[in-house]
Parts: sequence; C-alpha cells; structure tokens
Amino acid sequence: MAILKGWLEAKPVYYLGEEIRLRFFLQNEGKDDLYVLTWYTPLEGLTGDWASDCLIVNYGERLVPYDGRMVKRGNPLVKDYILLRAGNTITADFKLHEAYSISSPGQYRVALNAIIGDSFSSEIDVVVAKVAGLNQDTEEVVLLGDGIAFLIEAHAEPLRTRGELARALEAHDADEGNADEEVPKAPVFNGGDASRQAIVLMAHNDAYLEGTQAIARLTNDNQYEKWFGKFKSGRFNQVRRNYVNITTKMSIAIFTYDLTESECDQSWYAYTYKGTQTVFICSRFWNVYDGHSNRAVILHEHSHATASTNDIAHTVPGCLELAAKDPANAIQNASSYEFYAETL
Ligand SMILES: [Zn+2]
Repeated sequence: MAILKGWLEAKPVYYLGEEIRLRFFLQNEGKDDLYVLTWYTPLEGLTGDWASDCLIVNYGERLVPYDGRMVKRGNPLVKDYILLRAGNTITADFKLHEAYSISSPGQYRVALNAIIGDSFSSEIDVVVAKVAGLNQDTEEVVLLGDGIAFLIEAHAEPLRTRGELARALEAHDADEGNADEEVPKAPVFNGGDASRQAIVLMAHNDAYLEGTQAIARLTNDNQYEKWFGKFKSGRFNQVRRNYVNITTKMSIAIFTYDLTESECDQSWYAYTYKGTQTVFICSRFWNVYDGHSNRAVILHEHSHATASTNDIAHTVPGCLELAAKDPANAIQNASSYEFYAETL
C-alpha cells in the first residue's frame, strides 16, 4: 500500500561556490490524512542541519558518500511527525552540498533513499502510541526514485560539507601520544556541569573497556554471525580492524565531548561527524531508558568518528535482519558494533 510518493527537483545547472538547493516533495496519495515521521527524509532539514543519509548521490560512476551529522536517536516523539492531508503534497528545500561533497564540475545524479519509518492516521493515535511507549505503528515505507540529474559548472571554490567543516575546525596535530598504556586518554569537555561530565567520563572509559573486550572475544561463532552475518575472512578482519581502530584511537587521542546541546534535538542521544574527535551529547543521553546504555551510545559514536561506520539499521531486529541478509552492510553499520559489544 504505497500511498506515499516522494520525488526531487533541482535546477538544471549550478555553479561551484553557490549553494546547491534541491526540493523534496512528499505526496499522500491515499484517502486518509496521515501523520508522517519526518526522520530519515529531507523533511528533517526543515528543522535545521542534516541528520541522516537519505539520498544516493553519484558523480559520474562514483558514489558521493554522506558527510553530515551521524545521529543516534531515541524513540520518536509526537513533534517528530508532520501532518500530510489526503491528496496533499508537502515540500522541503534542502542544501545538498552541506552533506554531500559537490566539489567538481560535471554531471551529478541524486536519487531518494529515504525511509518513512512510521505513520499514523490521526494525531490522537500518535499521542496514545507515544504514551504507551510504542515505537512505531506501521511498516517502513522506502521512498526510492529514478533520481534527477544536474550539471555543475566551474566558478569558485566549492562550499564545504558540514563534515569537512567539522574536521577543519579540529585541525589536530597528528595523534597526541602513544597507545602503550592501553587505557583511554582522558577526554575534555565543552560545557556541562561536573556531574554530567562525570557520567560521560565513566561512559567513555566503559566504552573503551567494552571495545577491548569485544576484540578479545571476536571469533567465528554464533555471536559474530548474529550481528555481522555469515563468516568470511575479509569481512571478519574488517570488523576486528574497526574495533581495534576505535579503541586505539581512544587511547592515543584526546576526544572532546560537547555537552552544550546547542544543536541537538530532544529525541537524540548524541551525534558526531566521521573523521572527527568530538562527540556531541544530546538530552536523551541523560535519560537512557529504551534499551541503550551510556557506554553503548559512546561506542556507537566512536565507531562513526573513527571507523566511518554508517547508520543503516538502528534497532535490534533491524540489525539482526541486516546481518542475515546483507553482511557487507552489517559490517559497516554502527549499531551492529554497538549491539555485538553489548550482548557479549
Ligand atoms: Zn549512528
């Protein structure tokens, strides 16, 4: 029952150095009004910066990777749904260049890879479901399209992605020390009171410990197959390498935890950017009650920051299914690293 239809529009030509603005359309082709979860779609752009990889961007034959925020979320709240009346279409303008590097002249193609994770037919249903603690009412709807093409012409220096800006801002001197102590380096904090800093410090140390325990136990067994799929030495070695890189980085680099919550959403635990040493902690972190521990959230974020993992599946059932059906993506999925480490 595909009653939701999504598509994109772009100008035929853009110039390097200018904003690459595209428009997302979402149409309710059904007979009932719908409250639609905005997560994992460009509709999230209405409230600010990028929060998920919901497009497939190609430059010629090359896939342009997502380089925006990697967000770990709790369950959605009522405010995360938007009303889409029967027969109506809503639009959202978004800045493609902020999350996908548009840096060379030539033809780009962009297709939707957005997921409508949930929808309800009335606001009352949403409220009742949230009070009851239900995560979702409906099956996910994946919005895939043929995509659109546009031309980029040379003009000025390309605008940078949020990830590129975040990495430039940190400008680390190589790595700060050596790892032979086999303990995590003490992090630094931006904002937060002493008690919150203490909670994060403990989670940081626990995440390191959990990562090293995962490495010690990693072997070709049921647990491995459960979270990362059928054993294949290349994939197994990649998983091992990722855990080793995550923990080694924690023992040689000084991470920053930003506790200011300045660009957070209230349903988020935390976010980071790939290739950085800063983790932004959001309000849900202080209220971990839907199956995550603080250390798990921290390990999850470090897997993005250090091992460039993605967010493909988020829930336990989703990750189990990913491992069974698509091991190549399971070994790239942050939550799979988190859950494997947590269930040891
Ligand atoms: Zn994530």
